[in-house]
Amino acid sequence: MPALLCEIRACTQCAAVLPLGPRPVLQASSCSRVLVIGQAPGARVHASGVPWDDASGRRLREWLGLDTPTFYDADRVALVPMGFCYPGKRGGGDAPPRPECRATWHPRLLPLLTNVRLSLLVGRHAQAHVLGTRGAATLTGAVRDWRRHLDAGRLPLPHPSPRNVGWFKANPWFARDVLPELRLRVREALGD
Ligand code: SF4
Repeated sequence: MPALLCEIRACTQCAAVLPLGPRPVLQASSCSRVLVIGQAPGARVHASGVPWDDASGRRLREWLGLDTPTFYDADRVALVPMGFCYPGKRGGGDAPPRPECRATWHPRLLPLLTNVRLSLLVGRHAQAHVLGTRGAATLTGAVRDWRRHLDAGRLPLPHPSPRNVGWFKANPWFARDVLPELRLRVREALGD
């Protein structure tokens, strides 16, 4: 795992199309118990080099019920987005994650996470990739279907971005039903 992480952090495969250049941002250990598959770093995370070092990360830690030291303990939590480098802007938001990461690195990295008990699929890109045809056609559908995926140790979540506040307000069942179960499953996966 350490050698692979060094290889990933030196990756320049899409240098020609990344607006701020390559800076892979991720966290993982072969001991990790909870895997968070997110989207891709935003500009702030690109600048700091720290995964989920932004408002989305604050909300995600609150959802998981984890303090900052636990969240950033790779032996407990792996933070592996669909794309490891900031992909730039498109329309009113961030561009989709670069597809090269999931093709090049995920097949080598994810099999090394042999101690993961719970995988959190944060956002539509992670859900479409991991669930494929087993997932619902929309993010809301996938998250509503959360109980079915728990049997396989997976939980689809909306992206915790401030841009999604409207979704959180329109879907109060998420905070009421899903978040308590999420916190419970995270504690169980971590052995707390
Ligand atoms: S996005 Fe992924 S494949 Fe592209 S340069 Fe970054 S680490 Fe390499």
